[in-house]
Amino acid sequence: MGASQRNLPAINEMAMVGGRLCLDFINTTNWLDMDSVDDRLTDFSQVLAWGVRVGLIRFPGEADSLDPTNRKTDPRMARLHQFRYMLRQLFVSAQPPDPATLALFNQCLRQTGGLVMTVTEKDLNFVCRSHDLSWIEAPVAYSAAELLISPLKKRIKQCPGPRCGWLFLDSSPNNRRRWCSMATCGNKHKARQFYGRKKER
Ligand SMILES: [Zn+2]
Repeated sequence: MGASQRNLPAINEMAMVGGRLCLDFINTTNWLDMDSVDDRLTDFSQVLAWGVRVGLIRFPGEADSLDPTNRKTDPRMARLHQFRYMLRQLFVSAQPPDPATLALFNQCLRQTGGLVMTVTEKDLNFVCRSHDLSWIEAPVAYSAAELLISPLKKRIKQCPGPRCGWLFLDSSPNNRRRWCSMATCGNKHKARQFYGRKKER
């Protein structure tokens, strides 16, 4: 079932709880083990909406210049999905990545050579201006590389909610965060426990 059929929030409303750009990108879909379910990135207009949401696209009209087509069968979608799957593998697998995965990651990482600091209205922004996928792959790969080699890597957790599987960086002082969000998976869990106890009585 697609995201819209299950009334899941779309890109514009969905929670951003990963704590890092790369984790929020991985969380643009839910996961059932290693399979993507309830994907929010199913066509390129959603990719652009995500880019706007996280600040990778900041100028009016910029999205149009990055994608004039918005086709559902856009071959770039398959590549982005593969990139997202690979990133998640890198974070959740207990094994070191295989050479093919590492090669793909490094290919995306090389695009960070195109990242430039630019001045927007008041802020500095670290962006990649191009018409291929590097505007999204480069900053996300950079964020992933930084996190993968950081001591914070061991604070990355996977939400145990059914059909969730989101990744997040637990920055709570006692390292006891369990859910992607209390508003969604945490509350559903509490409700299940409550009705389970009711049934027993
Ligand atoms: Zn969750």
